[in-house]
Amino acid sequence: MFHRIRRRAKEPCEAQRRFAELHAQLQDQVPPGFGVRAPEPELAAPAAVGDDFLPPELRVPSHDQLSGRMMPWKQPLFLDSEMAACAECGAYRDWLILSTRGEIWLRCRAGHQQQETRIDTAWYNRHSGPADATHATFEECLRHLGH
Ligand SMILES: [Zn+2]
Repeated sequence: MFHRIRRRAKEPCEAQRRFAELHAQLQDQVPPGFGVRAPEPELAAPAAVGDDFLPPELRVPSHDQLSGRMMPWKQPLFLDSEMAACAECGAYRDWLILSTRGEIWLRCRAGHQQQETRIDTAWYNRHSGPADATHATFEECLRHLGH
């Protein structure tokens, strides 16, 4: 009897020892980094939508997108064999010709603007090349053209 009791008493210890061994084994088996959140895979760049799409700077803006267009006009501007001159300062060259909302405006070097009814958008389109730049604001556009 005595012997049996001793053996019984020993059993929990044995179980604990086994558990400890098992626990140690499991710990060894746990790969390093387990439980640490895997780093996010680098976000794949969204598939380029249509590789043949022109970059924005090469797209020709539609007229709807522009509130107006302008072009420099360095030489004197003859309209109906009359030379256009600034009503304010008399400048007759180095114009900016503005086309906006179906109206044509002349802007002299000094920044005076006057509507020019002898020319129209069609005239402007005939004389202007394709827009070489798009500007968010009128002021930006003036700077671009050196005014
Ligand atoms: Zn002027």
